[in-house]
Amino acid sequence: MFPNAGNGGYDVQHYGLTLDYTPSSNQLTATAVISALATQDLSSFNLDLRGFAISRLLVDGRAASFTRDGGQELTVTPRPGILAGTTFTVTIDYAGTPTVVVDPDDSIEGWVPTDDGAFVVNEPQGSPAWYPCNDNPRDKATFDFRVTVPAGLTALANGVLVSNSTIGGKTTWVWRETDPMSTYLATTTLGKFDLEISSVGSIPSYVAVDPQLAKGQILSKLPEAVTFFESIYGPYPFNAVGAIVDDAKVVGYSLETQTKPNFPYVPDELTLVHELSHMWFGDSVTLTTWPDIWLHEGFATWSEWIWSERQGNKSAAQYFKQYYNTPDQQTAFWGPAVANFLDPALLFNGTVYYRGAMTLQALREKIGDLAFFQLLKDWATQNRYGNVTTPQFIALAEQKSEMDLTAFFDTWIFQEAKPTIW
Ligand SMILES: [Zn+2]
Repeated sequence: MFPNAGNGGYDVQHYGLTLDYTPSSNQLTATAVISALATQDLSSFNLDLRGFAISRLLVDGRAASFTRDGGQELTVTPRPGILAGTTFTVTIDYAGTPTVVVDPDDSIEGWVPTDDGAFVVNEPQGSPAWYPCNDNPRDKATFDFRVTVPAGLTALANGVLVSNSTIGGKTTWVWRETDPMSTYLATTTLGKFDLEISSVGSIPSYVAVDPQLAKGQILSKLPEAVTFFESIYGPYPFNAVGAIVDDAKVVGYSLETQTKPNFPYVPDELTLVHELSHMWFGDSVTLTTWPDIWLHEGFATWSEWIWSERQGNKSAAQYFKQYYNTPDQQTAFWGPAVANFLDPALLFNGTVYYRGAMTLQALREKIGDLAFFQLLKDWATQNRYGNVTTPQFIALAEQKSEMDLTAFFDTWIFQEAKPTIW
């Protein structure tokens, strides 16, 4: 779907990102230190980066030559070359105006300026708008962020807060993500925030809300929602939990950035639990290729339904019925087939959310609660921090249920027609 995103020949282990951002001029001055393992002999390799002027590029401390293609390909030629099986470090100093990326479906992402900072979300291809990377969801890595902003602003990022210190009118916020993370799940949303630090059990919790917004009561449901999803999906997968609530209506959608989902306004309860459930399905257990995105969105939408059901509100079966019975002309979710489309403009089509969730509810009714809930827990546990495919999910569902589900999944996710019998 995004042929320029991602590169081969190496596996990134860690990103160390040092960013200095001035909101008034929308200028970013940065250094990225990328540690990677060569998976083949490399005479050259590519990274993804959009725009910026590169003032220095080193490989293992030595200046390396590089070329840009005007798009997002940054080709680096180290001297000497790199041998398969060795680790190497790329250091890149770069500066300029970060990019707002427009996707094939016209949604925007990347580094989006707000009235007091920036809202930073990257699914699926926004990361190279602000840092050089191997922009492929399969190449997970750990991250360190050192973000300097004018004093009075808060720079957020994934993982735990290590320190913040103010010198000469600037504050540097240091965050550390020690769990593996796909590049599109990184964030450094920054601006004016009320940051509340607490814990959910033993997990540190960071809830940041733009003071211009009325906070309300919804965010206080976060600990209960963590406990609830742990009870059905297994242990919370990451070292921190939280939420970033900004005033960013121009972006208009929420994103499950790892450990701290970004919300462009105060979320309602179902949006809050949707993004939280993505920590298990999307962030920890991540697709291998984008056409399998129902493994994220179908699961997160069904998670809203089971939350509602266990709260004593509308049940998942009632949600299923409501969507199934919606007149055809009022729906945008029967087509394309859930797991059988290649047009990137359709990546966030209603089908992956609603028909994806209906697929899970139909599966629950077919194989029974015992096998179904064991399936979800095993899926989350066995694939923790990994990348998965739809055939792997079908195989595990067949193993847990001891049933042949070929026809079921064919009807529900590979054929476009509305399922009538399954
Ligand atoms: Zn989602």
